Amino acid sequence: MHADAANDSIAISNSVTADGVTVPVCPSSVDRMLVARGLTKEYQSGTQRLTVLADVSFEIAQGAFVSIVGPSGSGKTTLLGLLAGLDTPSRGTVTLDGTDLGSLDEDKRAKLRGAKVGFVFQSFQLIPTLTALENVQVPLELTGSLPVSEATARARGLLGRVGLGDRTHHFPQQLSGGEQQRVALARAFVNAPRILFADEPTGNLDGATGERIVELLEELNQERGCTIVLVTHDSALAARTGRTIRLRDGVVVEDVLHRHASAALEAPDGSGALV
Ligand code: ADP
Ligand code: MG
Repeated sequence: MHADAANDSIAISNSVTADGVTVPVCPSSVDRMLVARGLTKEYQSGTQRLTVLADVSFEIAQGAFVSIVGPSGSGKTTLLGLLAGLDTPSRGTVTLDGTDLGSLDEDKRAKLRGAKVGFVFQSFQLIPTLTALENVQVPLELTGSLPVSEATARARGLLGRVGLGDRTHHFPQQLSGGEQQRVALARAFVNAPRILFADEPTGNLDGATGERIVELLEELNQERGCTIVLVTHDSALAARTGRTIRLRDGVVVEDVLHRHASAALEAPDGSGALV
């Protein structure tokens, strides 16, 4: 662990594109998995217009592990929803693995999410009437991509991976908060997503359990080359990721690469293998 995250970080340089948008630059040797340009989200509240995200732009490289931090109400969950295609912006664009989400209708966006995106919700959102194993299998059943026996085997393997091999037949209410969170993580990974979004997955956990969740994310990021975007309010956990984007009042106020990660990016084979 680093004593001072700020001293261990380097600012990401920005470039201004032809359309005048400032975009942090990805290392040129790595593909872009996610590009946000001028993302703005407004809500109408009575006669008032509330701007919760204003002109947010950045790029995230394939295989990166990025954290998004900021105070409560700064727009982190809203941003994650837009990046994952769960919600649509008032203005601006999101390009996910080369596809402009704005060009897709809701049905096509849902299909794309099923194929490429994993999402861990702040509130877990497990189905209470299904066991841990059945919850993890749900995304596989929705896409119908595997025969039932293989789907069960994969779900069982992932539950073992998150340390819940002996809890497969427990219902959510029979599991602790940390265990439910790990089921949600296994479910998000079961379709082998290209990109995983996790909204404060350590929020309700004690320090040690939170640490284990981040270690697990690190392993899955490195082993599978899965791009991970993690929202957290914990600066120490954020400093363990490769890069931190800081929001305040719906605006990006800081975007830094952490030195330990920039060294890894420069390694000849730093991207990790896809499985
Ligand atoms: P964070 O995740 O950083 O705590 P959110 O993205 O949840 O922040 O919310 C950012 C702001 O947007 C908050 O002020 C919140 O009240 C407002 N907000 C979120 N969703 C809605 C909505 N559906 N209608 C109106 N305001 C909203
Ligand atoms: Mg939130």
